[in-house]
Parts: sequence; C-alpha cells; structure tokens
Amino acid sequence: MSETTFRSLGASAPVADALAQRGITTPFEIQELVVPDALAGQDVLAKAPTGSGKTLAFGIPLVERIDPNGPTPAALVLVPTRELASQVGEVLENVAAARGLRVATAYGGVGLRDQAKRAANAHLLVATPGRLEDLANRRLLSLDKIQALVLDEADRMLDMGFQPQVDRIVRRLPAKRQTMFFSATLDGEVGRLARSYTDDPARHEANPEAETVEEVDHQFVQVTPETKVQTLVDLLGQAEGGHALVFVRTRRGADRLLAKLRERGVSAVAMHGDMTQQAREKAWARFESGKVTTLVATDVAARGLDLQSITYVINFDPPDDNKGYVHRVGRTGRAGRAGTGVTLVTRDQQADVSRIAARLDLREEFTSSGMTVAPPKLVYTSRKGRGGRRGW
Ligand code: ADP
Ligand code: MG
Repeated sequence: MSETTFRSLGASAPVADALAQRGITTPFEIQELVVPDALAGQDVLAKAPTGSGKTLAFGIPLVERIDPNGPTPAALVLVPTRELASQVGEVLENVAAARGLRVATAYGGVGLRDQAKRAANAHLLVATPGRLEDLANRRLLSLDKIQALVLDEADRMLDMGFQPQVDRIVRRLPAKRQTMFFSATLDGEVGRLARSYTDDPARHEANPEAETVEEVDHQFVQVTPETKVQTLVDLLGQAEGGHALVFVRTRRGADRLLAKLRERGVSAVAMHGDMTQQAREKAWARFESGKVTTLVATDVAARGLDLQSITYVINFDPPDDNKGYVHRVGRTGRAGRAGTGVTLVTRDQQADVSRIAARLDLREEFTSSGMTVAPPKLVYTSRKGRGGRRGW
C-alpha cells in the first residue's frame, strides 16, 4: 500500500498542484473516503466532526466535475452562516481557479443586485439558504442548471431553523443532480432529511479526533494479576474528581471488575453489551452527571461515547492493537484538554503492548515504566508508512 495522494484519489494535476502550493498534500480521512465516490458522481452522505476537512472532500469533486465552458451556476453549496459562506468560498476559489472556474458567495447584508450578477456568472455558488431563496424568488438567479448540491453543516442548518428554506430550494433544483450531505451527526431529523435528499448515497464517516493522541500524557504501568486491581484503585484516587473511563476486554470482565471496585469502596458503573439499552443509558447518565466518576466499559459499549470531561482513560486490559489504543485513549484530551492514558501491563502482556507503544511513537513512555520494548516481529508491509505511525 503506497501513500494516498490527491492524485491517487482521482484529482487532476492542476488541482493537486494548487493544493500542494498551500501545503495540502496528504488527504485527510474524510477526503480519502468521499473524493473517489463523489468524483464518480455518486450521492454522498458524510458524517465528520469540525476540522476534519469536509470542505475539500466536496470541493475537489465539484471542481473536477464542472465544465468550465458549461452553464452557470453549476454547483450550489448551502451553508448555515455568512462566515462559513465566505470561508468555504475562499477555499473553493483556490482550487477552482486551477481549472478556470469561478466561485461566488451569496449571503444577507450585502446588496442584492451585484451579488446576483456574480452568482449567475459563477460555476460554484456558496450561499446561505435565506439569501439564496431571496435571489431565486426575485428571479435574479436561475437554479435550473445546478448539477450538484452540497449541504454543508446540515445539522447546524437544521438547528438554525433553515429546513423550510432548504426544502423549498431543493424542490427548485433539477431532480437529476448529485447531492452531497455533510453533517457532524446523522441522528434523528438530520438523518431523515439526509436520506430524503439523496439517492442511493455512499455513506462515509470519519472520526479524526481519534487519530491523534498527542494532547495526552501516556503512561504504562507494570502490574501483576495480584496487584492490578489495587493499582487501578490508586490511579482512580489520583483522578481527583475527573471522569475516568476504564477499558476491559470482556463483558464478564467488566462485571467482575465492577464487583471488585465496589468491594474496595470505589463507586463505579459499567457498560457492556449484555446490559439492556435502558440499563446502559442509566449508567451513562450517572457517569455523565458526575454522580459516579468511574465507568468500566468494553470497546464495543464505549463506541461513540463522547464526554469532554473524561480526563483519564485506563486500559485495565490492554487494547488489541495500536488502532484500538488510539480509539480508547482518544476519548480523553479532546478539544485541546489535557488527558491521561494509562495502560496496565502484566508480564505476559509486555511484548504485545510494547509493540503497540512502538508503533505509536510511545517508546520512551513505555520504557520509562521500567519495561523494555520488544523487537518488531511483524513484517513491514508498507513502502512508506505515515510518519512511521501507521502502515504496519
Ligand atoms: P471541516 O469543514 O470538516 O470543519 P475544513 O474543511 O474547514 O474542516 O478543514 C479544516 C482545516 O484543515 C482547514 O484549515 C483546512 O485548510 C485544513 N485541511 C483540510 N484538508 C487538509 C489536508 N488534506 N491537509 C492539510 N490540511 C488540511
Ligand atoms: Mg466545514
């Protein structure tokens, strides 16, 4: 597997060069996922958090697919605010210029006529729903040549009450078009809307905050099966009121550990797959509200849990691999907060955990625990790993 580039995802040389000039050479996860499908003309339903690189995920395919000599506007990007409109407009302008395409923005608070003229003349139009509807209602702008529609930050558009406008705008567009829907969440109403606007979409989800573990202080602690629980209790004592998420390998292991913690006077809750939805929700509510600050969970049960105040992630049982480590420990140190990830390691787990640590560039953290890093036993299959952190 060689390194992914924008070229290898299907972007043209001029577009890739324009990106490279701004130091953008390696696609982010959501771009890697979305660009090939979107370039092929497929509808897309993408869920990814802020800062994950959604703009180029739709921007590159839009720019590649629009004919510079075709009618305008050919693509419409709806965004919830004027700040976003100008921000997205700027990003698109850079790549669009590489293919001789024009970009315009339309939002409230600016004179209508000039804006309408520029909008009608641009290949790509980035607009807020209110202003766009206004332009269309006044017949200052025709939308019948739109081939691609992007709903960016769709969840925020709904939160801001734009659904009626968006609905009316979508009804004005040609039925034969490509639709891309981007949102930080696809739960509830926004998911329903996403499905109603798109046709057989490719679904993609990226969780980039789980990819970095840099804001976190990583510790590895030698234990024996006999000292393990007490070590955990001591660590929880140091957590000082912060929320601690404790990972175990199995459902039964979760119940056993919970019982042992309670024996030692530590109040904790558990979440795992054998519990009813109701019981899980109850446990989560107690943890979230801070009534209990220790949650014991399996990997599966902890999936998707998001709590800003988790300051400790403790691997009572080590994760299976480096990806698992990042997923678990990525639950702390979010949004620039400080967090701590502690992994308890018994003698027979030492070699495996040391390899995980080495792959994540945590050799020093590992050896400072007094344990040694085992030599790699895996074959290096990637010709060019990502900064040495991936590709094993
Ligand atoms: P989102 O819309 O998901 O919140 P943006 O598209 O605004 O994210 O991108 C967030 C930031 O990341 C921007 O500053 C953008 O320039 C930068 N960025 C996007 N893609 C890449 C990339 N592949 N490499 C480096 N930086 C990128
Ligand atoms: Mg965005």
